[in-house]
Amino acid sequence: MKCPFCKSFETQVIDSRVSEDGESIRRRRKCTSCTKRFTTYETIELRMPQVVKQDGTRSEFDLQKLRTGFMRALHKRPVPTQLVDDAIATITQDVLALGEREIPSRRLGEMVMRELKRLDQVAYIRFASVYRSFQGVDDFQDAIKEVQRPTPKPPSKSPNAKDGKDPADTSGDLFEPKEPSPPGARGAGRDR
Ligand SMILES: [Zn+2]
Repeated sequence: MKCPFCKSFETQVIDSRVSEDGESIRRRRKCTSCTKRFTTYETIELRMPQVVKQDGTRSEFDLQKLRTGFMRALHKRPVPTQLVDDAIATITQDVLALGEREIPSRRLGEMVMRELKRLDQVAYIRFASVYRSFQGVDDFQDAIKEVQRPTPKPPSKSPNAKDGKDPADTSGDLFEPKEPSPPGARGAGRDR
């Protein structure tokens, strides 16, 4: 920590105390060159990152949207709310643990897919059909084969990496999925 007065890097901590709420540390420092004193505060940076969509637009990380995405995928599925809460908490923790200021929406989508795959295969396929913009019956068959395979390791690997399809190709908002459409009903003319 550089001295704000003489710019010397030689400073000494003479007092250190944790704030009452425990969320910051206040340190009294003394410059060993000019002997002036100053105070620094250390706080934890624990902010949810901005979500960056494929088109480059940014938005706040929205827990409610994340929950809505889960609830739509899990509509009328026999999955206890507690497990949904746990899955959302896991994703939130994983996102925080990245320590990044921004996260691509694709990465968030992969986390949702990972959790849904674990929770409920039907919900997983519902979500995947919207997120990956399924074009036909083949896409559903592929996804069904995928959930029936044991989860590959490491689990963070993109489930699509092997066949070169990029889940980011979707232009849909993955946290506002529409009702799953019948195969082939939407996206005519879209690239595969
Ligand atoms: Zn100084």
